[in-house]
Amino acid sequence: MINLTNVSKMYGTVGHAVHNLNLEVKEGEIMGIIGHNGAGKSTVLKMICGLIAPTSGQVEVMGRDMSKSKDAIYVQQRMGFLPEESSLYSHMTVLEYLNFFAELYKVPKKQAQQRIDSLLASLQLVESYRLTGELSKGMKRKVSIARVLLHDPQLLILDEPNSGLDPLTSFFIINYLKGLRQQGKTILLSAHNLFHIEYICDRVSIIKDGRLLVCDTMAALQDSLGRREYEVIFKSDELLPYDRKEGNYRYQTDDVADIANILSQISEKKWELVNLSVHQSALEEIYVKLVS
Ligand code: ATP
Repeated sequence: MINLTNVSKMYGTVGHAVHNLNLEVKEGEIMGIIGHNGAGKSTVLKMICGLIAPTSGQVEVMGRDMSKSKDAIYVQQRMGFLPEESSLYSHMTVLEYLNFFAELYKVPKKQAQQRIDSLLASLQLVESYRLTGELSKGMKRKVSIARVLLHDPQLLILDEPNSGLDPLTSFFIINYLKGLRQQGKTILLSAHNLFHIEYICDRVSIIKDGRLLVCDTMAALQDSLGRREYEVIFKSDELLPYDRKEGNYRYQTDDVADIANILSQISEKKWELVNLSVHQSALEEIYVKLVS
């Protein structure tokens, strides 16, 4: 679905933001890109979308050469891109905003209506009559995600879809993306949270200083990523078989599926999530292990 061959990007005086990168994303998989701030993740994603051109190398998406404008338009009509910060038109209601973009994407009116209704329901966007400028951060992100999906793209490129969101909203979005993979979509996303990556990605690429250090399945990377322990702190009036910590419940595990389970329960039963933390090797340690 995506093939980057010897791709480099230089920004003026900054020098190399991306250096001789080779990467393949297969049809139907979820690939995660992780790396420090400034590692080059957004630059890679923008080159794949055809928003910026590489200084050298080839970007091929859906078998099309993104340096050719006709090919890039073909691909852009079939992909959805969620930038790291996507501003909404604050004077529009959620419905007006989505209808406006459905028109831009040239989705036929009847189909657009069905799709908007279905996206509002599945993303639990109940307040579609509200101005987007009045929404919470999580709601705004959901509206942006709905916008990206309006034209039913085969390929999704998502730059930190959970940036700045609380753990339960993040988990909702991550589960939602997991569902999209089951519908056959290919997803490439950047993220900082290893729980999200581990929970939904088939493969993960680690980038450092614009260079690809490794690209492999989570299972293959287990040793390099080191032992991770997840801790969830929550409040509930129910009597539960978990440890107590300062009046809250504490649940610790190294199994990502257990964490997904407990987060689902907290969300369903409307308990209060106080904190979700991941104790993991720092990325520096991972890099050292990977390059040594
Ligand atoms: P973050 O996690 O903070 O979003 P990132 O991994 O997405 O970071 P990029 O935004 O791709 O990293 O930036 C890679 C490098 O390129 C950084 O040194 C950044 O300062 C530089 N850079 C990015 N965009 C531009 C630009 N338009 N002009 C000049 N330098 C840029």
